[in-house]
Amino acid sequence: MSALPETVARPILVQKFGGSSLGTPGRIKRAARRVAASQGAGYDVVVVVSAMGDSTDRLLSLASRVAKDPAARELDQLLSTGEGVSAPLMSMALNELGVPAVSLLGFQAGIQTDRRHARARIVGLTPARIERELADGRVVVVAGFQGMGTEMDVTTLGRGGSDTTAVALAAALKAQACEIFTDVRGIYTADPRFVPSARLLTRIAYPEMLELASSGARVMHPRAVEIAEAYTMELHVRSSFHAGPGTIICSEEAIMEDRNRVRGIAHEEHVARLSVVGVPDRPGIAASIFAPLADADIAADVIVQTASHEGVTDMSFTVASADGREAERILGGVAREIGARTVLAQNGLAKVSVIGSGIRGQPGVAATMFKALSDRRINIEMISTSEVRITCIIQAERVKEAVTALHEAFKL
Ligand code: ASP
Ligand code: MG
Repeated sequence: MSALPETVARPILVQKFGGSSLGTPGRIKRAARRVAASQGAGYDVVVVVSAMGDSTDRLLSLASRVAKDPAARELDQLLSTGEGVSAPLMSMALNELGVPAVSLLGFQAGIQTDRRHARARIVGLTPARIERELADGRVVVVAGFQGMGTEMDVTTLGRGGSDTTAVALAAALKAQACEIFTDVRGIYTADPRFVPSARLLTRIAYPEMLELASSGARVMHPRAVEIAEAYTMELHVRSSFHAGPGTIICSEEAIMEDRNRVRGIAHEEHVARLSVVGVPDRPGIAASIFAPLADADIAADVIVQTASHEGVTDMSFTVASADGREAERILGGVAREIGARTVLAQNGLAKVSVIGSGIRGQPGVAATMFKALSDRRINIEMISTSEVRITCIIQAERVKEAVTALHEAFKL
């Protein structure tokens, strides 16, 4: 008779807690009890933590009080300390419950990134240390949001980047699931602050969630959703404060109900539009406008080029309001170089988007959207579409009304 293996590998569960879920010592203890319960239920648990409450914002404001333009490397070094506090506190809270735990900073967890401070990307993950600690029966608490770039410099992954740490670890460890604990109950059909009747979604597909995340629903870091899709890692978004099923982010194939429908309405306030007017229409013009913006890491969106007339065209696009000034300055230089007439900038705009995999090949969706807006006499300033999204740019002061109208029109 052959002996049973001494240890049967336990499934791995990654549980990520956002800042509001860790805002006070009491909340850390509460999150620790959740982790302990998962461990008791038979999982090997890796916990990923954000910084406590608004501590990242407070660190940023501290920096701004000693320097006008702090070096990116030093900012990363500073911001990473937020998670450097919450991780050991979580580990201590677990120990207090009788659960053996160890905390690891990004570099100790084997998270390698490129060297782009404040927006680093994970380029490699060597989870040997994590696996060893799990095998020794410990819960591993990893400081989110941070990694190690070249020359052992600390990098951060962009605001909200702890989500990305969690998903990358879940993929590398082949975890059974990745749970994202946050201060909302999951993903809604629209922002519940705008639409009180918004419904909690049971499931949403990766491409839809990606559009939601990039269209202003700040529940998940977009990069985290991209990684989850690449590895088909199901993400489970749920509340730290309420029991409840939350929302599962998964592949389209794993969604049975409501396949051909609009899934939700997203919006983003604080949008600016820039127009380069009177651009000589020749090959290479778009590249000469957008390359310098990309170099400055300014994301241009909703790009519209008008049909050219007498050899000139207008090029308009949107950026986040925060980037508006800088974009205008850069374009001023470009306009002179390429011989464009002028650059116009307009602030106070917003985006509303209808999102759903079912939009593909359904012309009725666009028609319904435009009619719902026109019924409320909301002017559409620009339109753009993707496979799973239709976006309209409108005046910011009408955004709440627009979201409500669309939520009704699509019977969400
Ligand atoms: N603490 C970082 C932030 O506030 C990262 C995160 O919470 O995910 O953006
Ligand atoms: Mg977050």
